[in-house]
Amino acid sequence: MSTRELRRLPSVDRLLGEPALQKLAPRYGHRLIVRAAREALARAREEIRDGAEPPDREALAVRAATYLQNDLAPMLRPVINTTGVVIHTNLGRAPLSRATIAAMEAAARGYSNLEYDLPAGHRGHRTVHAEQLLCELTGAESALVVNNNAGAVLLALGGLAAGRGVLISRGQLVEIGGGFRVPDVMRESGAQLVEVGTTNRTHRHDYEWALAAGGVALILRAHHSNFRLIGFATEVELEELVELGRAYGVPVMDDLGSGALLDTAAFGLGHEPTVQESVAAGAAVVCFSGDKLLGGPQAGIIVGQAALVEPLKQDPLARALRPDKLCLAGLQATLMHYLKDEATEQVPVWRMLATPLEELNRRAKRWQRRLRRAGIEAQVIDGRSAVGGGSLPGETLPTKLLALPAADPDRLAAALRGGDPPVIARIEDDRLVLDPRTVLPEEEGTLLERVRDETMRQ
Ligand SMILES: *Cc1c(COP(=O)(O)O)cnc(C)c1O
Repeated sequence: MSTRELRRLPSVDRLLGEPALQKLAPRYGHRLIVRAAREALARAREEIRDGAEPPDREALAVRAATYLQNDLAPMLRPVINTTGVVIHTNLGRAPLSRATIAAMEAAARGYSNLEYDLPAGHRGHRTVHAEQLLCELTGAESALVVNNNAGAVLLALGGLAAGRGVLISRGQLVEIGGGFRVPDVMRESGAQLVEVGTTNRTHRHDYEWALAAGGVALILRAHHSNFRLIGFATEVELEELVELGRAYGVPVMDDLGSGALLDTAAFGLGHEPTVQESVAAGAAVVCFSGDKLLGGPQAGIIVGQAALVEPLKQDPLARALRPDKLCLAGLQATLMHYLKDEATEQVPVWRMLATPLEELNRRAKRWQRRLRRAGIEAQVIDGRSAVGGGSLPGETLPTKLLALPAADPDRLAAALRGGDPPVIARIEDDRLVLDPRTVLPEEEGTLLERVRDETMRQ
């Protein structure tokens, strides 16, 4: 009996002709697709021997495609973010502006003056281009670009304080996602952690006592980023730390994390400290990410006083952490948007944060109408979008959500994640909701197709 059932399974060749596998051919090539088809057939044979019904050819092709994409050759590929979390670290943080992508593509395609001084006709320095722009934008004397902000903090701590004490409030010994923990980075840098104050309250005199005890190379302020200290809590302001440090000849380093160049308060959010503010407040060294609120490629940026930042460029660790040409080309292009005062229109994370509620409502309504034409009744409801990326925790922006009809929202969410391109959605109050804020205009057509197909299949 089971042999007859087994014979009903298609051949590998017939399976390869199925659309689910055909459409993957350009991306994966023949060899991997054949392996996936064989694997799906082998598994089906086993199931049949265990008494299962043979799957039909289409279902088998879908299984092979899923196996190919998730297990055999998982690839970094684009996903559509409908979560409303603008800087979603798991989804690659900041999407880049058109000009940024173009600059990266141009740098990728051919040669560039990466380390070549064009007027002089000889070797130049790789990060000069972005550094000039950073100084212009932030008011700092000097700047340095590395791979990511964790690297920037490590480099700065090691370079400025190895073997000596670094003061930090106990309320700022933070852990950022992805294993970045201030005490661990401190240890790795060779600097000695000197904790001051308590978890909820640190006062000026806590720093002062530690400074008076001597052996202190640096005062570190770390932005809380992903949590809030509320209730019976006190921290010492950056200006005050700078003033204290001056009295003892100790510089202040500010790990800003997100590193906004614009004021988030202008968009109905709380105030995220800006880089310019830290520089103006007198922080000697300021570190931040390139791909959080700056909205550019992954990078770690150090700006500050030349006397402290310039020597870091000679550190062997700076060489180990150096950014590649694509990063530098992209960072430059992103920074130009700020210099040209066009960041809120051109830099996607800022455009998303600045999208007016009426616009989000129009988009949600348009999606609703298009799904209705396919016989799907979705609802437009009020909701909230988050900034994410360790910026402004607990702060949200009002948005409009499209709530999809689904008997089992978890199953629909899994189906949306499973297809191509994957759609990452959110479940709220037992409903699957789509937030238009984080969907790029060019993704809309594909998103609605996927939503229509998966909703009808449920
Ligand atoms: C995000 C963050 C970091 C790490 O930055 P990456 O660019 O992810 O390496 C370090 N410090 C703070 C305060 C952060 O928020």
